[in-house]
Amino acid sequence: MIQPTDQAPSKGGDFDCIVIGAGIAGASVAAELAQKMSVVLIERESQPGYHTTGRSAALYTVAYGPPVIRALTRASGAFFHTPQSPYLSDPLLSPRGVVFVARADQAQAMAALKSELGDAVDPLDASDVSRMVPLLRQGYGAAGLFDKTASDIDVHALHQHYLRAFKAAGGRLVARADVTAISQNNAWIVDTKGGRFTSAVIVNAAGAWADEIATLAGVAPRGLTPKQRTAMIIAPPANVTPDSWPMVVDVEEQFYLKPDAGKLLISPADAEPSAPCDAQPDELWVAHCVDRIERAFDLSVRRIENKWAGLRSFLPSGCPLAAYDDQAVGFFWLAGQGGYGIQTAPALARAAAALVQGDPIPQDMADEGVTAASLCVDPSVNVTEQVAS
Ligand SMILES: Cc1cc2nc3c(=O)[nH]c(=O)nc-3n(C[C@H](O)[C@H](O)[C@H](O)COP(=O)(O)OP(=O)(O)OC[C@H]3O[C@@H](n4cnc5c(N)ncnc54)[C@H](O)[C@@H]3O)c2cc1C
Repeated sequence: MIQPTDQAPSKGGDFDCIVIGAGIAGASVAAELAQKMSVVLIERESQPGYHTTGRSAALYTVAYGPPVIRALTRASGAFFHTPQSPYLSDPLLSPRGVVFVARADQAQAMAALKSELGDAVDPLDASDVSRMVPLLRQGYGAAGLFDKTASDIDVHALHQHYLRAFKAAGGRLVARADVTAISQNNAWIVDTKGGRFTSAVIVNAAGAWADEIATLAGVAPRGLTPKQRTAMIIAPPANVTPDSWPMVVDVEEQFYLKPDAGKLLISPADAEPSAPCDAQPDELWVAHCVDRIERAFDLSVRRIENKWAGLRSFLPSGCPLAAYDDQAVGFFWLAGQGGYGIQTAPALARAAAALVQGDPIPQDMADEGVTAASLCVDPSVNVTEQVAS
């Protein structure tokens, strides 16, 4: 079992810390660490954000997810609402809202979701639902729940903020540097296609590949499961401007639809286990998506303008892991963010940076319920996956 530790390893190697993976997790923790340490951020691709970070639905909501996710999301709120950054000129969040919609035959699922989300959402009746989601087929929505906290995140701006803050603090980003071997000789030695790097500390922020990185380092994998999710962009019906509509999520998570820059982002909310890879949309799931969307909404999908798939990676607990491995000194895990890695990044990065350095969790985050123990839940505990974007 992974235990929290307040013992940061002693110094050794060319850098104080090597962060592997420059998606949102790696970029954000590297930016925090670089304020106090020398850090190299290693990325396989030429473009950081090419994998899951660049493929999300970009939603921020404090209303759902396991308790640790809600705590991290609340603790990220101050940064999202009032970021202090010379690299951000526009707000990171814009209001969206989410309507969870249920047909009459989904009353039981609606009751279960209502009791799970509690006061975080407002109940809607059939007329509320059809007023708020005019594109739903007549009579489709029998009831709904409204999450008014939900906002769109400017993911690209958030990611760029962290990469620029990292560089400004003296951090070194090495792209096109696939990690090929990891060994130990007083310090960690990380061999990549972009050179060799040594350090007392590795932060494993490799997303879907986090277990593979552990295995390369001779560290036991943690049972991470990447799950593929498909998304696509379609045009709205003629003469319709959807920008001010809320996101619509099926109460049993069979589909979602979200306005996106004048278009509609749609997904069948699939969650097929996958090996870590450059995920590509599966035609079967594209077909399921179109079918589910056309059944619920008064539109016919004539052309898919863009489609993609991404991997949401879950540990068996369903909770993220931000802790030193208890068997491998100086090997820090930052993995398993599932469908919440963007909205939790500001707080998770600060918490992880504190733990890497052997410091306590910052007080404002502790006040929201983020503890070191909550960030290293025993991977064998099976916390049921809850509604995820
Ligand atoms: C369809 C979809 C919708 C989503 N919607 C939301 C949402 O609305 N809100 C939300 O908060 N989250 C959402 N998520 C989840 C969120 O996108 C992820 O939790 C987050 O992007 C994970 O970030 P990451 O940095 O861990 O992974 P990644 O972005 O995948 O980064 C990992 C990096 O590690 C690098 N790497 C791996 N192996 C190596 C190696 N050997 N050498 C060097 N580099 C390596 C990879 O190249 C990659 O760049 C969604 C995800 C999907 C797929």
